[in-house]
Parts: sequence; C-alpha cells; structure tokens
Amino acid sequence: MSRKYSSKNSGFRGVEPNSLAVCFWGVRGTLPSPGTEFVEFGGHTSCVEVMSSAQGSGSALTSLVLDAGTGIVGYGESALARGQDEFHILLSHYHYDHIIGLTRFAPLFRPNVSIHFYGQAKGGLELNEVVERIFSFPFFPLEYRNLPSRNNLHFHSVVPGSPFSVGPMVVIAHELCHPQQAFAYRVWDNDLQTSLVYATDHEHGTDSDLSLAAFSRNTDLFLFDTTYTSEVYDSGRQGWGHSTARRGAEIAEMAQVKLFGLFHHDPDSTDAMLKNSLLVEGQKYFPASFLCKEGQKLTLSAEVSADELPLAAGSDSLMRRSQQSRRRKLNG
Ligand SMILES: [Zn+2]
Ligand SMILES: [Zn+2]
Repeated sequence: MSRKYSSKNSGFRGVEPNSLAVCFWGVRGTLPSPGTEFVEFGGHTSCVEVMSSAQGSGSALTSLVLDAGTGIVGYGESALARGQDEFHILLSHYHYDHIIGLTRFAPLFRPNVSIHFYGQAKGGLELNEVVERIFSFPFFPLEYRNLPSRNNLHFHSVVPGSPFSVGPMVVIAHELCHPQQAFAYRVWDNDLQTSLVYATDHEHGTDSDLSLAAFSRNTDLFLFDTTYTSEVYDSGRQGWGHSTARRGAEIAEMAQVKLFGLFHHDPDSTDAMLKNSLLVEGQKYFPASFLCKEGQKLTLSAEVSADELPLAAGSDSLMRRSQQSRRRKLNG
C-alpha cells in the first residue's frame, strides 16, 4: 500500500447482530486536505461504507459505499484483504471530490471481482459513459477498455423515489439542491427499522430543505453537507452549492433524527476550526451533533452502545438524546 494513501482505518471485521455498521473512509469535501492541521478528522474526500449485520460474518462480508472520493482507496484495499469480491458503489453525483478515488480503487484493476455502480444518467450521458470518461485520454493513462475489471462492471441507473436492493439493504434516492444536481441516499437495514441518510452536496434555502427533512424522518443517522459555518456562508459562499452546520442541525431537528453527523468538511477547515466553530454551531441547534471523522466507526441499532458513540465533545448529550429518542418511541 502506498504510504500516501495509507489510512488509520482498519475497516470492518464483523458487524453486531441486528445493526447497520458505518465506517467513514473520507469526510472532506471539494479537495483532499493533507497536512498536520487536518490529522484528527482526516483529509480524504467523501466515502462512507455501510454494512448490514444480515450479511453474517466471515471472509465474504459485503458492504456498500456511498461515493468514491479519495477515501475509497483505503476501503478497496481493506475490503479485498478480508476477501470481498463484490462491490457496490453508490454515487451522489460526479464532481471530482466524489469520484476521483476510482482512479486508485484496487478492485477496478483486478479481473476476478464484480463491481456495481449506482447513479444517475446525466447531461445525455448514461452512468457507464460517465465512468468511461474518468478513464479516458488525457485524464488517465489507462483507458476504460483496458481496465482488467471491464467485463465485470455493472451499471444501475437510479431513479429518485424508486427503492432498490443492495444485498440485504434497501436504498432509496432523493434529489438535492446542488449545481448539476446530487442525490441523497437513505439506506435501510433488512429489518427496515434501522437506517441512515447520506445527504451531500446540498445548498439550503429552498423547499428542498423541507423535502429532505421529510425524506430523513426518524432516521438513526443523518449525514449532511456542513461545508461552512453560517458566518463563512454569509461572507460570500451563497450559490456555491453547500450548506451550514446550523441549517443541517435545523433539518435534523425537523426530521427528528437520532444523530446528526457534520460531513463534507471544507478543505480549509483545520481540526481546531472544526471543533471550535462548526461543531459548536451544530450542537447549539441540535445537541446530538458530531463531526464525522476519518476512521470512525458507528453501529446503528435500536440500542446505541456508549462505546460506539462519537468521541468528540458532546458525547454525553448524544447519549441523552438517543435515550430520549428511545423513550419517545416506547411511549408511541
Ligand atoms: Zn462535494
Ligand atoms: Zn458537488
């Protein structure tokens, strides 16, 4: 493994019964952020792995990933190492920070794996044509037709509002407000009780905030594009396609989610800025807010165990929040 792409993330070894496991391989937006000021939360761009306990355990664990930013490089190596030979990649959209990791996604360079892509046809291009463009002159030295995996690639065009299955999980897409448009995905465990919503990239301020809240209703984990604090957004970032910690927290509150993960960190946001500004703003409006962190793993289920909760400031309030949420459910 190249040192440049090495990750502190060791991946899944198994999943707790009756749960959905989540692993963050990349939490940054726009561009990777190398450097000592970005070590704690990580510099890799968007890639989140999700695995259902219904997979069982063993060497053939199969997970899906949301987006293929540079975080997918570490994921691919980890999944191959545990024997996974079937891959499912759900793409929110095709801006570079969400696809560039494919150029070093090890399974694409193997002849004996199958890889399923899910995404939207766009601008007259089918999904397979989008992926072909990534591996084409003059952007990449190896052309699509020469990829060792080319005969084992499968493309699934996603239609918002139409559920589809990925292994034991059920997925549904939803349109976000973003230049050239992005999809949010809600991933349900096979019991249809546990779920997460992955909603990046999105700019707030339209009716689509309300439809996103409805789409995310009561989900266990709401991951949202909090590229900016309100102050930074108001200083000239309107129209750039991204949102704030405050607006994400308000949507989380509207949707009555259990946990709100601040995601798609701005490449200029250092660890200190994330903790001192972004997290503070999120927790002010929604106490169960946490900063998504590269290498972090969460287990989502009806019972959230304390040791699986985020370790960032506010974990006490996260615990209280999840207990209150459970009480609400028990009380109907
Ligand atoms: Zn992005
Ligand atoms: Zn984008």
